[in-house]
Amino acid sequence: MRVLVTGGAGFLGSHLCERLLERGDEVICLDNYFTGRKRNIGHLRSHPLFEMVRHDVVDPFKFEVDRIFNLACPASPVHYQHNPIKTVKTSVMGAINSLGLAKRVNARIFQASTSEVYGDPTVHPQPESYRGNVNPIGPRACYDEGKRCAETLFFDYHRQNGVEIRVVRIFNTYGPRMLPNDGRVVSNFIVQALQGQDITIYGDGQQTRSFCYVDDLIEGFLRLMDQDEITGPVNIGNPNEFTIRELAELVIELTGCQSKLIQQPLPADDPMQRQPIIDVAREKLGWEPKVQLREGLEKTIAYFRDLLSEES
Ligand code: NAD
Ligand code: UDP
Repeated sequence: MRVLVTGGAGFLGSHLCERLLERGDEVICLDNYFTGRKRNIGHLRSHPLFEMVRHDVVDPFKFEVDRIFNLACPASPVHYQHNPIKTVKTSVMGAINSLGLAKRVNARIFQASTSEVYGDPTVHPQPESYRGNVNPIGPRACYDEGKRCAETLFFDYHRQNGVEIRVVRIFNTYGPRMLPNDGRVVSNFIVQALQGQDITIYGDGQQTRSFCYVDDLIEGFLRLMDQDEITGPVNIGNPNEFTIRELAELVIELTGCQSKLIQQPLPADDPMQRQPIIDVAREKLGWEPKVQLREGLEKTIAYFRDLLSEES
């Protein structure tokens, strides 16, 4: 298979490129390096089946491929709110350009959607049938509504043009190759702990998230893309739910650091709870996460320890 991965130099994209190469696929990695890094894919660059293209998904692109994974989009609130108009364009134009290519070359196409399509959910935990509670004019809307519109485009291209689509709704995922300044909670807490800084809890820390280790997530991506039965959307995430305070305490324990917990204001529209129902993934894909938070955090802490010692 010849596979295009947009956003391939990012956190998830680089792990996906690696898995695809391992199983013998040819990979074209397209990225504008907004939040991606060359070092994420540095170890792949000499691979004979790997090719890197610097390009922005807002502008059309053309490749002869069998499959497309569309991951290009900043995922951390800090980054997607930096230039919200660009975030909407990346999601919407990126989806149109990727779908246009899929239609032209008859490729199966995968969309990295998000649990953010559920907004601040009033139904808990969240099944795929839940239609969400998104504030369309808030600071997170550029991401949430951009992703919702991308899902709409995927299903319209499917109905109108017969494009073969696969849509995954990703819940909070963590692991090696997150950026140290990414702004997301797992990388923030680990970097703060390793640097002996205070750990910043936004609000009272009673809000919850369910954290999935990156290797589990990528396995879910491949199972969805490789099967012929369902289009999705499918929730992929770890259903074990933790409060943000519990996460902070676990990071302190595992790093052995002396950091204190400090409170900072809760950002606007920050969802209070998030937990996937993964019955569809279990039944249709035979998928469920294997890596528990403690084990995944240990691997992620080891990654950041090495990275920070290289940089110092
Ligand atoms: P990331 O920021 O590490 O990766 C995104 C990649 O897309 C980066 O390499 C970035 O440079 C690239 N990119 C951004 N805008 C682009 C543009 N206009 N043109 C070309 N490339 C562009 O984030 P990630 O965590 O790897 O997320 C990957 C995808 O998964 C995103 O679509 C994100 O919305 C989705 N997702 C991730 C999570 C998570 O917890 N990691 C949760 C839900 C959804
Ligand atoms: N958060 C926090 N401290 C931080 C970063 C994030 O308490 O340094 C909180 C944030 O307010 C949210 C949760 O952790 O409630 C997850 O935030 P993240 O940005 O990782 O992802 P998202 O909100 O998109 O799920």
